[in-house]
Amino acid sequence: MDSISKKNPVYSNSDSSKVTMSEEEWKKILPEDVYYIARQKGTERPWTSKFENFKEKGTYYCAACGNALFQSDTKFESGCGWPSFYQPISKSSIIYTPDNTHGMERTEVQCGRCKAHLGHVFEDGPPPTGLRYCINGVILDFTKAKDAEKQYNKEKPQQ
Ligand SMILES: [Zn+2]
Repeated sequence: MDSISKKNPVYSNSDSSKVTMSEEEWKKILPEDVYYIARQKGTERPWTSKFENFKEKGTYYCAACGNALFQSDTKFESGCGWPSFYQPISKSSIIYTPDNTHGMERTEVQCGRCKAHLGHVFEDGPPPTGLRYCINGVILDFTKAKDAEKQYNKEKPQQ
């Protein structure tokens, strides 16, 4: 995450203003694997994400812009090979777009701040939402609960 945030001017865990950048600019800023998922709507190979079987408590952020996306307590083991969640952090943290590519009717989920492609949402998840957000681990940044608190205090504007 440090290597990304250093040269990424829009990366922030607290700024919620929308990010609009050209594909050229994104290409310069993002690591190749993140660019492939985020901007080219790629899909990582299943079972390759370190987050697939990851149980730490904390918050998952968009790796492209730092937007908070999911809490660890809404993560569940779906067995589908990608990190799965049943609920985003807030309604505005995610954008939903119909995706009819590959002969399937799916709903694409994108970051609500920078529109990075995250994955898809399916209606076969557990209660209470019944939804399964199937997310590419490459596009997730994770911060442990305690670290997140520290970071928040540091970034809070001084009054
Ligand atoms: Zn984002």
